Amino acid sequence: MSDTNLETNSLAPSEPINDDLKLNIQQTLGQVGSVYDEALSKPSPDLILTETGIITSVGGGIARVEGLPKTQAEEILLFPGNVVGIALNLEEDDIGVILLGDDPLIKAGASVKRTGHIADTPVGDALLGRVIDATGKVLDGGAPLKINKRMPMEREAPEIMDRAPVKVPLQTGIKSIDALIPIGHGQRELIVGDRQTGKTSVAVDTIINQCGTGMICIYCAIGQRGTAVARVVETLRDAEMLEQTIVVVTSGEDQPGLQYMTPYAATTMAEWFRDQGKHVLIVYDDLIRHARAYRELSLLLRRAPGREAFPGDIFYIHSRLLERSTQLSEALGGGSLTALPIIETQAEDISAYIPTNLVSITDGQIYLSPGLFRKGLLPAVDTGKSVSRVGGKAQLPAYRAVAGDLRLAYSQFEELETFARFATRLDAESQAAINRGRRVREVLKQAEHQPLTVIQQIAMLKAVNEGLFDELELKQLLEAQKNIANALEDQMKPLATKVESGEKLTDDDWQSLVDFLTEIIKK
Ligand code: ATP
Ligand code: MG
Repeated sequence: MSDTNLETNSLAPSEPINDDLKLNIQQTLGQVGSVYDEALSKPSPDLILTETGIITSVGGGIARVEGLPKTQAEEILLFPGNVVGIALNLEEDDIGVILLGDDPLIKAGASVKRTGHIADTPVGDALLGRVIDATGKVLDGGAPLKINKRMPMEREAPEIMDRAPVKVPLQTGIKSIDALIPIGHGQRELIVGDRQTGKTSVAVDTIINQCGTGMICIYCAIGQRGTAVARVVETLRDAEMLEQTIVVVTSGEDQPGLQYMTPYAATTMAEWFRDQGKHVLIVYDDLIRHARAYRELSLLLRRAPGREAFPGDIFYIHSRLLERSTQLSEALGGGSLTALPIIETQAEDISAYIPTNLVSITDGQIYLSPGLFRKGLLPAVDTGKSVSRVGGKAQLPAYRAVAGDLRLAYSQFEELETFARFATRLDAESQAAINRGRRVREVLKQAEHQPLTVIQQIAMLKAVNEGLFDELELKQLLEAQKNIANALEDQMKPLATKVESGEKLTDDDWQSLVDFLTEIIKK
């Protein structure tokens, strides 16, 4: 059988191979050879090696995957339906992955692909004025983003030698903060308080006050109600600040993985501007929800729970985030990233686990008190419990001169006022101190979304310090301040530029300001 096969397949010796046929065969072989050579010299683009694993279980925004032993920490894995997951727990042949999305096809037995990339986020000017999520998905109904660059969500914080001290003031436009708890470029100042005490308002007013300064702002909403975020976006649009702002949102219904990664991604977007020498302000609203999302993930990943069931590395996840905010040295362009993390407390307990952690990580805190809020002393900044560890260094010299010992005088007044409630008669000096203190408190009140310029603030504080308001009724102060603000606008331009350029005011300057104020208050 095999013999016959051989015979039929081989060329019969009776047919001689002529030269033409020989040449033909050689040519054909040559062509085949060169095709092989070519194929071997450059690998075909169609040939892609993918490592795939299998989902063993899934639930609560976490998937466990086996069969991908080479996965790196924080590598992106691709799930069915193009859902992205980030490898967090790497064990031998069992990876805990946080999912950034959801799809019905993600179930046990489905396959998962490695990508070899670390989780990244879009960066660039195209993000300004947009409402997006951490992966760059557009949430404002506008056109898709035109992105040509992505950067890792998690990045190293700048080295110590790359940082410069905080000394350029960042004006919030809020009298009580700029006077008593000044903030500087590159500082991390916590805004802490119970629910509905005006935390978001302080942060948003600070963003609004950056109008015209060229400061880039990022509002990062974590687990907020959709209506609350929509209100912030509306406020920013009305104040014409949206064009200079990126709103990065993850809502409470998003997968905990996405909520966890969002502040890191928002910081990367901010760093892109900072590294070009620009000044950036980022607001995290709020980090307690971020901590809760991380607790949920950690418990699902079966990591050991610690105090309040938070995992042991909860301090690290927040310090890693906030260390990225800083003032860069001149050699690196001198850009800065200032952070205003917000944290909600329960029943005024600042010594709960997460708030104390954040107090120790940041360079100070603005404490908003529900008691003051109820009394209508808005913004409800409790000056006794608030502090800025950078202090007067981040205040303009002219401002420092009026704010000087306002803080001390004010806290003495508060003490005296409490004491005065029990005393029947007070000596004239104490009575005068109380009268003055009440006027200071009235002047520190400020409505929402009405930031004041530095010169307006200085004028109002100077007026109260000089006792120009002493003869007025408390309820007349609001109008007097309005008149001052309006008149300053057109009469004190040279003084305003002098103050803003960081110059010290001479005695003559102060005298002319006081004369001007006396004139207006008399009217
Ligand atoms: P939540 O805990 O819900 O996030 P929050 O602490 O962020 O609340 P906001 O939403 O900023 O508080 O403010 C609560 C309410 O107080 C809002 O209705 C806001 O308009 C009002 N409010 C805040 N600051 C002032 C102010 N300075 N003057 C008048 N109203 C204010
Ligand atoms: Mg809020």
